[in-house]
Amino acid sequence: LTATTSTSRANIKVVVRVRPSNTKESGDNHRVVVKVVDENVLIFDPKENAEPFFYHGVQQKTRDLLRKTQKDLQFTFHRVFDVHVQNAEVFDHSTKPLINSLMDGINCSVFAYGATGAGKTYTMLGNPSNPGITFLTMEQLFHTKEELSADRDFQLGITYLEVYNEIVQDLLNPGSTLTLREDSKFGVVVAGIKYVEIKSANELYTLLEQGNKNRTQHPTDANSESSRSHAVFQVYLKMKFKVTGEIRMAKLSMIDLAGSERGSATGFQGARFVEGANINKSLLALGNCINSLADSQRHVPYRDSKLTRLLKDSLGGNCQTVMIANVSPSSLSYEDTYNTLRYATRAKAI
Ligand code: ADP
Ligand code: MG
Repeated sequence: LTATTSTSRANIKVVVRVRPSNTKESGDNHRVVVKVVDENVLIFDPKENAEPFFYHGVQQKTRDLLRKTQKDLQFTFHRVFDVHVQNAEVFDHSTKPLINSLMDGINCSVFAYGATGAGKTYTMLGNPSNPGITFLTMEQLFHTKEELSADRDFQLGITYLEVYNEIVQDLLNPGSTLTLREDSKFGVVVAGIKYVEIKSANELYTLLEQGNKNRTQHPTDANSESSRSHAVFQVYLKMKFKVTGEIRMAKLSMIDLAGSERGSATGFQGARFVEGANINKSLLALGNCINSLADSQRHVPYRDSKLTRLLKDSLGGNCQTVMIANVSPSSLSYEDTYNTLRYATRAKAI
């Protein structure tokens, strides 16, 4: 048995997931601004077939209240997931193909991008009855590992950290601040991080949940559930081929990014502005790295933030990246959704 694939692959796959409307978005004060056309195409702010718009129960002739004219923009992605799509299907068409790359010794990274409340954590972590793609990916990884175990010995360990305010914290060992080092043999190394060897996917969910409890949650004026931290889950894979003795290593990074909403919208003031500015720093740097990679520039500014330094060996080059852009369907998140779709479009060019 071999997991090696000969099919050519793009370096990045960009998918968009539209979450269902919530109760706040189901009243008269909003409209749906994301229309999924098919598995690859969506229309942002559609003009045609627009639902009649009600304001306080009265149908409006125009929608001037929210938007003068519809942008009616068509976006194409590797996959578009409409509101009814479950985590398992997202997994099938996003990170599942990464397992073969990992077996080939290729580093992979997965990003959940989007504004706070757009569905990043639901996609990545999920809940016990509906596990997210981190769990599903690991389950598949263990499955493949079993299949290949006649030929290779595996060593598999995980780490879980958070980048908050440009400080790296160990989510599996709370209270310790970590430093990044560059190692000629292993690439970027997080000194002192707790590395947990796991034998099955079932051990994982508890670890992830524990780790998530240690995430920094600072309520902001705009949104009490705002998350300004990047949660980085990493899997280190070491394979040794029984016959040849060849050693093959690969790393999988799965990142629940901080909310991409504009700092200005969160009402940050005074000392807390630094907090907002620093979060922007890692997201901004990620965007700049994506821009450089998309333009095939030789210099990619990985060193500009903790997050991008950490992912230097997992983004661009020969690496495989999956970007999951999460959006709300509602006009209440109009700007955020528009920005996310543009960011995702940019990332397609890597
Ligand atoms: P984020 O992590 O981007 O801030 P969350 O993942 O916490 O957003 O999602 C915000 C809310 O929406 C949560 O209550 C979550 O359970 C719900 N939600 C998000 N995506 C979905 C989905 N695809 N199906 C059902 N509920 C969802
Ligand atoms: Mg979240």
